[in-house]
Amino acid sequence: MTANIRIVLVNTTHPGNIGGVARAMKNMNFTELHLVAPKKFPHAEATARSSGATDLLERAVVHATLEEAIADCQLVVGTSARGRHIPWPVVDPRELAAIVAPALVTEQSEGKKIAIVFGREDRGLTNEELHLCHHHVHIPSNPEFSSLNLAAAVQVLTYELRMAELYSDANAEHKPQWGTDWDIELAESAELERLFEHLEQTLIDIRFLDPDNPRQLMPRLRRLYLRALPDKVEVNVLRGILTATQKRLKEHE
Ligand code: SAH
Repeated sequence: MTANIRIVLVNTTHPGNIGGVARAMKNMNFTELHLVAPKKFPHAEATARSSGATDLLERAVVHATLEEAIADCQLVVGTSARGRHIPWPVVDPRELAAIVAPALVTEQSEGKKIAIVFGREDRGLTNEELHLCHHHVHIPSNPEFSSLNLAAAVQVLTYELRMAELYSDANAEHKPQWGTDWDIELAESAELERLFEHLEQTLIDIRFLDPDNPRQLMPRLRRLYLRALPDKVEVNVLRGILTATQKRLKEHE
């Protein structure tokens, strides 16, 4: 069900683009639009460019931070027009649609929440924002001219997701795995963020991480853990190990 997938726009500058995104979404039967600190919203230009998709604009949820917008999602996907310093698992829109297909198939979709995050018109998503994501999606555009208009990028992604939904029966025997073959629910983004904070603090406590010179340690560890798609029990076990480590350390101080 497309209702399981939210489109998150970070810090959009031009309200017209928000309207264009609402239109692109409604064309593909998506309804969940989340806005992180938009520069101007609501705005007449957004309404005009939505060409009648005003219901999506009216129900759009505005958040102060990206963390808040994705807190209850089990899968977070960031979009990027260009390669970044630390490469992350990158898929194209069709591969993404295959990964999230279980959330689109009615019987398997219950409780699944997925965020697809889009960046600012001028500079996309920051590395820190991309590091909140499990996967990165790149639309394989012309490397010499790689950046699509925001609404165009949303159109490509939502089109591929819609195709995956329409073709889901034909693909029944090749059902992808995400979120369907597991006994325990996957951890939500907010739980993973608490784990990363706890991990960072523990690594500082044991003097493995120098807060004055952190280098790329936390992004690399985030990438490692996010690649594993930890479930709720696994996150609790990891937090338990960190708590025990901190406790033993205090006893020996
Ligand atoms: N100059 C920015 C591009 C911003 S385009 C940069 O270098 O990152 C605005 C947004 O549209 C991007 O943040 C991304 O969410 C989406 N987008 C544009 N082109 C894309 C592409 N080829 N693949 C994936 N997302 C893209």
